[in-house]
Amino acid sequence: MEKIKIVVVGGGSAGMMAAIRAAALGQEVILLEKKSALGNKLLLSGKGRCNLTNTEDLPNFLKRFSKNGDFLRDAFKKFFNQELISFFEQRGLKLKIERQKRVFPQSDRSASILNVLEDELVKVGVQVICRSKVVDLIVSGGRAKGARLENGRNILCERIILASGGASYSFTGSDASGINIAKRLGHVIVPLQAGLIPLDVKQNYVKKLEGLTLRNITLKFSDGKRQIISEIGELIFTSSGISGPLVITLSGKAIDLLAPDKTVFVDIDLKPALSIQQLDARLLREFKLNSKKSIKHLLKELLPLRLIMVFAAVAGIDPLKKCSQITQKEREKIISLLKGFHLEISGPRPIEEGMVTRGGVSLKQIDPRTMESRLVKGLYFCGEMMDVDADTGGFNLQAAFSTGYLAGESAALS
Ligand SMILES: Cc1cc2nc3c(=O)[nH]c(=O)nc-3n(C[C@H](O)[C@H](O)[C@H](O)COP(=O)(O)OP(=O)(O)OC[C@H]3O[C@@H](n4cnc5c(N)ncnc54)[C@H](O)[C@@H]3O)c2cc1C
Repeated sequence: MEKIKIVVVGGGSAGMMAAIRAAALGQEVILLEKKSALGNKLLLSGKGRCNLTNTEDLPNFLKRFSKNGDFLRDAFKKFFNQELISFFEQRGLKLKIERQKRVFPQSDRSASILNVLEDELVKVGVQVICRSKVVDLIVSGGRAKGARLENGRNILCERIILASGGASYSFTGSDASGINIAKRLGHVIVPLQAGLIPLDVKQNYVKKLEGLTLRNITLKFSDGKRQIISEIGELIFTSSGISGPLVITLSGKAIDLLAPDKTVFVDIDLKPALSIQQLDARLLREFKLNSKKSIKHLLKELLPLRLIMVFAAVAGIDPLKKCSQITQKEREKIISLLKGFHLEISGPRPIEEGMVTRGGVSLKQIDPRTMESRLVKGLYFCGEMMDVDADTGGFNLQAAFSTGYLAGESAALS
């Protein structure tokens, strides 16, 4: 059988897996990567530990996608979390499952994941060419025929797989250039937005709290009508707003509330385990016991040190005021702030800072059974450049690996 020549554009998780699968099926595969090395974003993933996938079952896995999860059913049927885990374990990499079913390499190093992929690329004979930015595709008669490189070189082929990623962390290489190529070829692009992103707030005083972590709190986002309530978790103040696992996870839903004419607030419940009545009783008790001490002193029992002065200022209470002088109104204000430290969301951080890109090549123009474009024959898509994105927890990388696997197999066998 004569080999088909397949060009894969982008050496991230999706592109590497696509190239491996297509070459394992006997085809001649060239992997083009614009940066000097493969897998830059993969290396950053999971804070350098790579949360590879998640062992949730399929129905619960699909629920973790912001929308469009159903599009991935065929890709997941072909190559899902257990197949991905086996892929690495069969190649000698030990994995472990942590809380919330998150899968990591036992080494706690994303480089071990990348090493396995790079070894496999060599083993199946993929020709990897780095420092090769693709600026356009050659299409004739509605068929993909090749890739045009920035250096002027054309590489002709029978199939092309675009795996060029989203539009964030552009220093890793994903700068939406592949999405723009797809657009020029007539594909609809669902507007790009940041996903899994810190949020900015209107209150300038958060600057004073930069770096402060609040543990065991809950968040309530609200636009006055709808509410999003978080589980108990952690929040970190940034120089201009809020971040941390709870914020990142709910950022997509919070952004959805932020229509142009809508104001969205977040209330931080600093004491989710205590009711208003319990807090009131506790404060009354403490005020009695510490009547000669300042409210600042008493708040140390309830709040992290760095929050106290800001908290007192927001409550409008002199921090040096004696507990015995605190009025009922002031006590009620303290309780209401403890149960709902109120901030107004001004918007997400720029897309560059998003852990994922929301939007991308419209799924209406991609066949979910093969990942082939419905507009250009012989052109396949995979990974984050498509309009799919998910929560944190290993779901995004699994989507990249699964769609890469399916695109590679379809391109090789079609
Ligand atoms: C800080 C951070 C942490 C993350 N942690 C996790 C995690 O733990 N678990 C998880 O599931 N997800 C995580 N993600 C998300 C996950 O990393 C991405 O969803 C995933 O890497 C997408 O893979 P991809 O192959 O589609 O794109 P990418 O990994 O972005 O790869 C695209 C590749 O294409 C190349 N390229 C782009 N344009 C061109 C061009 N024109 N020509 C040639 N090459 C091109 C790029 O240089 C890049 O190498 C994280 C993301 C970030 C930013």
